[in-house]
Amino acid sequence: MPTIRYQRRTPEQSVLYLAVRDEWPAVRALARQANAEDGLPAFIEQAAAQFLRCGILQHGFVRAVCDRCKQSIVVAFSCKQRGICNSCDGKRMTEVAVHWLDEVIAPVPIRQWVITFPFEVRYLLAWNAPLRSAVLGAFMRALQAHYKRQAIADCGRDPRYGAISVAQRFDGAVRLNVHWHILAADGAWVKTPEGLTFLPAPPLQQADVEAVFADALRRIARQLVRLVPDRDDEPQDRLSQRQPALAALFRNAMLGNQTTGKDAGKPQHVEFGKIRLDIKPHGRNCAQAHGYSLHANTRVGELARGDLEKLLRYVCRPAIAAHRLEQLDAQTIRISLKNEWSGGVTAVHVSPRDLLIRALAQVPLPRKPSIRYHGNLAPNAADRPLVVPDAAKVKAGCKRTKVKTCRDDETVAQASTRMSWAECQKRAFLWDVLDCPCGGRRTVIAAVQDRAEIERILKHLRLWPDSEDITAIRGPPELLDPPDDEASDAWDAFDDPQPLEWTA
Ligand SMILES: [Zn+2]
Ligand SMILES: [Zn+2]
Repeated sequence: MPTIRYQRRTPEQSVLYLAVRDEWPAVRALARQANAEDGLPAFIEQAAAQFLRCGILQHGFVRAVCDRCKQSIVVAFSCKQRGICNSCDGKRMTEVAVHWLDEVIAPVPIRQWVITFPFEVRYLLAWNAPLRSAVLGAFMRALQAHYKRQAIADCGRDPRYGAISVAQRFDGAVRLNVHWHILAADGAWVKTPEGLTFLPAPPLQQADVEAVFADALRRIARQLVRLVPDRDDEPQDRLSQRQPALAALFRNAMLGNQTTGKDAGKPQHVEFGKIRLDIKPHGRNCAQAHGYSLHANTRVGELARGDLEKLLRYVCRPAIAAHRLEQLDAQTIRISLKNEWSGGVTAVHVSPRDLLIRALAQVPLPRKPSIRYHGNLAPNAADRPLVVPDAAKVKAGCKRTKVKTCRDDETVAQASTRMSWAECQKRAFLWDVLDCPCGGRRTVIAAVQDRAEIERILKHLRLWPDSEDITAIRGPPELLDPPDDEASDAWDAFDDPQPLEWTA
């Protein structure tokens, strides 16, 4: 059976992969020194180790064969790690955005609220899960009060709001910066004799934003006083006592200081672009105080589903966008900023080790969800079935691809309502990796995990690393580039079949 190699992404050549591969042993050793041989917590160690295997054919792959021309392709397994792996996070972004669009967010206007925090609070939010829940809860109560107030003024009768909150841990330079993007239905649902009706909120005024902000800050301050001890017998920074290596990692990643070289301990080096004169009115629907800020100027109308999908992908995007990283020399990586910083800063320079430290700080605490549903969108809300998109319509329009594998003769996707890998790719790239160029359809026929078998097949395909002729059998380069739109920004490359787990 002839086998072709399709245009596989090559993670082993990416700037991030090389930084992790080269610096991880040293950072790991330093962490062990700092922490009585315990080093960094297991979830961070695991994330780094798994990331180094993600998308690498030598660690296993699946073969898919075309039903018409019988040509087959090989696709490496993915690591499914959060925070550090931009490829797996990219796939997750696509999956979540489609799920929200099809099954959670009905055609109602959506407003994005973004709340950010001062450094001291960011650091606590990075590791203190009870505090994080309490702070988010405080903000959501302020937001709920805002929407209820408006709806009651409009019509009375027990209005309900609905929102999705997404915790992000990064800023444009991949520094540790825990903050939330909240996608709120811009209005409220009220019960009327005709049933549940959505009342759109009146146009947002600056005074409204300031009122929500002031209310939220009062509530958040109460939670900080309640949950952050201010006593000698219980230090505020419990993390630095229990996990000194992790505490140091978080602090370095948060402050963005340089950790290596002659400038160690100094702030990161920045690049300035041209000062542009497109002066915009500053602070529209924004409020700032005491290092906190609230932005609420992004709103998507109920009919702009395409814009909504872009917004959903934006809030779920990976921490690290591969195409924003550029290796300038052995010790310098430039991170181009998506949004220019004040003062005209367009890029920052980091060492490979600093990039690794920032990437490691992005790995979220295990079993702590970064996405939560509130009000009428909460999983247990009585009215949820009435406010999500019409399930029957969604089902009719939904063509989930079943990925057949040979493992245990099971159709793995049958057990899962998640998108198939091929479907994610199709959504992200507008073409389907299981569609063969000949017009036929590819089926996954085997998952190859045995070391000897892996080596035998890759040598046969001349894809074993010793092979001299790897580039000759790559696909045409234009297929490597996803369409250049907002979504592609956060989606680095191809991903791998979702339902299959590789076993080491
Ligand atoms: Zn074919
Ligand atoms: Zn991965």
